[in-house]
Amino acid sequence: MSYSWLDEESTISLDRRANQKTPFYEPIVNTFKDGGYNPNVSYHYNPDVSKYHYGVRHPMKPFRLMLTDHLVIAYKLYEQMDIYQPRRATKEELLEFHSEDYIKFLESVTPDNAKKYAQHLRQFNIGDDCPVFDGMYDYSQIYAGASLDASRKLIAGMSDIAINWSGGLHHAKKHEPSGFCYVNDIVLSILNLLRVHPRVLYIDIDLHHGDGVQEAFYLTDRVMTVSFHKYDGEFFPGTGNHDEVGLGKGKHFALNVPLHDGIDDESYISLFKSIMEPVITNFRPTAIVQQCGADSLGCDRLGSFNLNIRAHGECVKFVKSFGIPMLVLGGGGYTPRNVSRLWCYETSVMTNVKLNSRLPEVLPFRTFFQPDYSLHPNLGDRYDNKNSKKYLENLRNQLLENLRYLRGAPSVEMQEIPPDLQNMTTDEEQEILDRLNRESEYDAHLDEKRYWLNTKDQARVSEQVD
Ligand SMILES: [Zn+2]
Repeated sequence: MSYSWLDEESTISLDRRANQKTPFYEPIVNTFKDGGYNPNVSYHYNPDVSKYHYGVRHPMKPFRLMLTDHLVIAYKLYEQMDIYQPRRATKEELLEFHSEDYIKFLESVTPDNAKKYAQHLRQFNIGDDCPVFDGMYDYSQIYAGASLDASRKLIAGMSDIAINWSGGLHHAKKHEPSGFCYVNDIVLSILNLLRVHPRVLYIDIDLHHGDGVQEAFYLTDRVMTVSFHKYDGEFFPGTGNHDEVGLGKGKHFALNVPLHDGIDDESYISLFKSIMEPVITNFRPTAIVQQCGADSLGCDRLGSFNLNIRAHGECVKFVKSFGIPMLVLGGGGYTPRNVSRLWCYETSVMTNVKLNSRLPEVLPFRTFFQPDYSLHPNLGDRYDNKNSKKYLENLRNQLLENLRYLRGAPSVEMQEIPPDLQNMTTDEEQEILDRLNRESEYDAHLDEKRYWLNTKDQARVSEQVD
């Protein structure tokens, strides 16, 4: 069936009956590719998050999240997942990691009163990368709230894989924003997971080093951080060389994979798998947080790698294949049409669904995806690959050498339950259980609300203009 005449014009609605016959997706039944692993997947998205603007020239475009959501809905992936519209993170929740004066500042500063805060703007590193924009604090609460909600579903055993594409803002520090990130939703959700999980593995495949998360857990052996990124000593944030391995008790529990421009699908996947397999089998995480920054794709506005969507997804699929509870987050990504393609594709990977490469005809903002209207445009040949075989081989050997120290780390072997939970009184434990129960009732209500939002999105197709 061809609708080529539609491609010129996104505002025309299709004949509904014809449309119903178009196969949007073909569920894979009985696949053994992942050892038959068929996880419960949940999707955590508050549509308000896409309405904020960092500024016209700023490369971070929250509307990429709306594009992603439209793709997920158009491919009907919501049928394969529990859908939640999470609440915002409270101030108290943000204070679990961030300092009080920083959060107070975020809460009070606006574009109108920014002049009054001149000294604070300097103190808190507010500037071009992290501007003061309207609703900045609300925006931060919304994306952090979604990651926390996702982590709660994992803790409660209600989800095996919980997805928040609006999260993954890995640069934010305890006292200040950094690299387009105001609060660090990743650190907050790992802290939450640590309440019940003895060991959490953090994996970061953003183009940039996951410095904020590494820094937060640099001294502990309960969180292992692994980051694959571009590194030349100058590229933002300037950290992430292979010799950063953690300190004190955390020594050898940080791993960095510094890469040069132009890395291609094959070398990236091969390196990723050969490092991550021994990391997972030696560290034995009980939960994994996977940051899926999309700026490592080829053709990214700020990027210089050559990865295609399938290759990026292959890494996430590999991690999923271990069957360990997993929080899946977004991150960077500055060419919105490719960011949304990637995260929709990765949603399908998590739900074991095979998508038709041709984008659904009923898709708001479909003209964003011209001229190919494909889920898998070729993104892989813009840059020369500056990573020689020899460089990658040496790097791999160096990193594997580091992993030899993982076995037998004291709290990995002996401390199965974190001390704060061991010391918990019955009352405290009951309170947590009650709260989890209350939250699941509340979520069931939102689930229903979310269903209607989906239906509304679909019904509104003919009104969309870009
Ligand atoms: Zn990035």
